[in-house]
Amino acid sequence: MTLRSEIDKKFKWHLEDLFENDDLWQKDFDEVKQKVDAIEKNFKGKLNDLDVLKKCLDESRGIGEKLGRLYVYAFMRLHEDMNNNFYNGMSQKVTELESQVSAKMSFIEPEILNISEEELNKFVAKNNLYEFYIKNILRMKKHILSPEEEKILADAKNIAVGPDNIFGMLNNADINFGKIKLPDENKAVELTHGNFISFMESNNREFRKNVFEKYYAEYLRQKNTIQAIYAASVKKDMFFAKTRRFKSCLESKLYGNNIPESVYFNLIETVHKYLPVLHDYMGLRKKVLGVSELYMYDIYVPLVHEMDKKIEFDEAKEIVKKALLPLGKDYVEKLDEGLNSGWIDVYENKGKRCGAYQWGSYGCHPFVLLNYDNKLDDVFTLAHEMGHAMHSFYSWGKQENLYADYTIFLAEIASTANETLLIKYLLKNNSDSKFRAYLLNYFIEQFRRTLYRQTMFAEFELKAHEFVENGQPLTLELLNKTYHDLNLMYHGKDIVFDENSDIEWMRIPHFYKPFYVYQYATGHSAAIALAEKILAGKNNYREFLESGSSKYSIEILKNAGVDMTTPEPIENALKYFKELVDEFKNLV
Ligand SMILES: [Zn+2]
Repeated sequence: MTLRSEIDKKFKWHLEDLFENDDLWQKDFDEVKQKVDAIEKNFKGKLNDLDVLKKCLDESRGIGEKLGRLYVYAFMRLHEDMNNNFYNGMSQKVTELESQVSAKMSFIEPEILNISEEELNKFVAKNNLYEFYIKNILRMKKHILSPEEEKILADAKNIAVGPDNIFGMLNNADINFGKIKLPDENKAVELTHGNFISFMESNNREFRKNVFEKYYAEYLRQKNTIQAIYAASVKKDMFFAKTRRFKSCLESKLYGNNIPESVYFNLIETVHKYLPVLHDYMGLRKKVLGVSELYMYDIYVPLVHEMDKKIEFDEAKEIVKKALLPLGKDYVEKLDEGLNSGWIDVYENKGKRCGAYQWGSYGCHPFVLLNYDNKLDDVFTLAHEMGHAMHSFYSWGKQENLYADYTIFLAEIASTANETLLIKYLLKNNSDSKFRAYLLNYFIEQFRRTLYRQTMFAEFELKAHEFVENGQPLTLELLNKTYHDLNLMYHGKDIVFDENSDIEWMRIPHFYKPFYVYQYATGHSAAIALAEKILAGKNNYREFLESGSSKYSIEILKNAGVDMTTPEPIENALKYFKELVDEFKNLV
């Protein structure tokens, strides 16, 4: 494999834009260390003086910004070569510093909550910048308990991480799927989480079946343990929700970002209405694959094969730029500047982290890591990650550091909107039916995995929490039956759901981060809605990109014309899914 030193500089990111060299990193590191000690010494116990409060908040913003820069630099350097011991050490150092900083600054919010509302109103009137920040802290007030109770809850947190940690250990360290023989090759490889899905995409059905059965056999062997871990996890959620006086686990988890519960229920209800379209697609799958019975191991195999066409990176840039032109000439110019001035690390090299992401820190430009391999999928990844990057670029440019980063609820919208614009551009400009079929298949699968599947997950975890809230024990039978019934309702009667597919829930790590995955589905719907508005020419999308977290996520989206408390955006996205399936039907 290519060494990093052999790759042309123009295809590598310029981390020097963060720190010219490692010595300067060290200098800032020492400074943050010293400043955070000073913050505790100078401000702790004194925040009821409003001038002191102002100084403390200003200082803490500065520390947060510097720390962010130290953090991303260390990790992105490590990602250039995961075997680099120096940067491995640097990342450990900065992780340690980060936990010190958050511990030492943890006095700030409780002290603010102890200040009277009248005083805080005075403070906010003088310091506009902090208005939303303070408002948000005050919103938590009714769920904050007495200092003694808070102390108990803080200690209980150390126990509460148990289920997630235990599942992580089981699922990443102790689980052992054994070896699997590769088709047409006389060799066997270790079956892992990493290669499971790519094996599920194999055209060899016998192989898929073997992999599937081998993989789930291991979960079946651990079924009682995993049931016990998950039940403990749900009970833990209920303990915290009840103790903090929320009426449900769902409410407690959505409260932080101020997302109304109606957003969650509305998503599930609206997706239910469009399940027949997914059933239809499953029927089509069965037909195209030519099988008499469709199994869960037949779900991932692409119905159209990857195009042979190679797309060089320079060509990919041109395609993406043209596709994103509806976002405005200035958007594309800025994007082009980013593409050519060290934002991106393009190619794979020995030791480089796999996958793709966008990252960075306030005060500098965003960075994108790719492992570009000249495939059409890589062009979509480029459009996706640059969507994140431009969202960061505009938010960081417009907002003060306090509100510069967008929330998770908004995080996947700009990236998916870019992918949607790209697919619409390619469909508009290509009449070749094989190419169109490939594009349609690619996008249909995204809908299935992001909108339908994540909503099904969201519904499963909602039910699991409701069982516990209603005093029903989460037995293995109940969890499996719940999952089985959902599988059947979502996918329809064309699939055979056996014991292996009933226990799929056992392998999903996201279930230990409750009420999180629905945001993939809402984000996907919002992105489709926004892409349509952008193409219609009437939108204030730029304002959306510039908003950061300066308002509540739901408000930011409403302002851009997308109201996630109503069925409309989800319905529109699913209508578009139906159009894609209908055209695809005619092509295969
Ligand atoms: Zn993304």
